[in-house]
Amino acid sequence: MFRPRNRVLGVHAAISAGIEEDIRELVTTGEVMHQVASLRGDNHVRAFVHALGVPGIVDVHVHFMPDSVQRKVWAVFDQLTNPPWPIVYRAGAGERLATLRSVGVVSHTALAYAHRPGMAAWLNEHTLALAAEHAQVLPTFTFYPEDGVDDYVSHALESGGSCAKVHLQVGKFDANDARLDAVWARLARARVPIILHAGAVADGSGGEEWCGVRPVARLLERFPDLPLVIAHLGTPDTEDFLALAETSPTVHFDTAMVPTDPPYLTDLPARLLGRIEALGDRILFGSDFPTIPHDYAAQVRGLVRLDFGDDWLRAALWHNPRRLLSLDSADRSAVKDAAPLGQQGPAQNERLA
Ligand SMILES: [Zn+2]
Repeated sequence: MFRPRNRVLGVHAAISAGIEEDIRELVTTGEVMHQVASLRGDNHVRAFVHALGVPGIVDVHVHFMPDSVQRKVWAVFDQLTNPPWPIVYRAGAGERLATLRSVGVVSHTALAYAHRPGMAAWLNEHTLALAAEHAQVLPTFTFYPEDGVDDYVSHALESGGSCAKVHLQVGKFDANDARLDAVWARLARARVPIILHAGAVADGSGGEEWCGVRPVARLLERFPDLPLVIAHLGTPDTEDFLALAETSPTVHFDTAMVPTDPPYLTDLPARLLGRIEALGDRILFGSDFPTIPHDYAAQVRGLVRLDFGDDWLRAALWHNPRRLLSLDSADRSAVKDAAPLGQQGPAQNERLA
């Protein structure tokens, strides 16, 4: 599964650092090598996206957990050796919010997930409070098969929840568990998208038996209107999930960690690229920030290197997530991108800590 590959493209091309004009020129040449070269680092991402002609990025796969949980997650990643996982954005929540703004992210989720009962409602308090405080944070919630789940999900929806996260592999549960029936029905009725980790990643953490396309296909047979966003392009079950998406119009994908430049998790099989390109209105950019082993720009470069063209890029970075999350009609979608950095005052940081 973990198969790092040598970097094949010298992205350190001879461009002047951080000069918007140069980036605009490189981007508008339309050649993918030029575009990749213009994305040398995080300080180029915002200019790159503007040169593409969209106001910014909507990142549907960003994690914000309570600090105690985040520290435990990082401790797990710190143990990885094949390959090692040097976490680039290990910082307090205020600093992470500022980093996302600085790379031109206008809206992003705040994903958290439970691995046992009794956690999800508490996680939702955290993520929904973050969204209430910061307009760029989409009100995100999670759930777990347990008593009371329908109550706290309806509470999350009443509190403005507009996006859900479910992690079948970490949660180690059946998506079709009867305790979730009322929740899925509720989310299908409300057309609330669910970022669903359903790929059976063989990383030694277990839980693969709950993943793969079969439980998801069954779920969709029962709730065909559920707007699903299969995380990480369904890796490593991408082919199966593409087939599901080709017959199920509510199935979408996020691109988090696959593809990246340089590649880290896995190579997308070349034979699947045409099918991914053809689903261009259902692919949403995601980064997996902050627990990523490379800079943010690597995620955007990975998308550019697919070479599907500027329209495809604009759709993945901006139009598709805006549409799926109904951001064009929502007040909170206001492009507050222009606000200066460093607005996260100490009081706010304390509240988040
Ligand atoms: Zn993730």
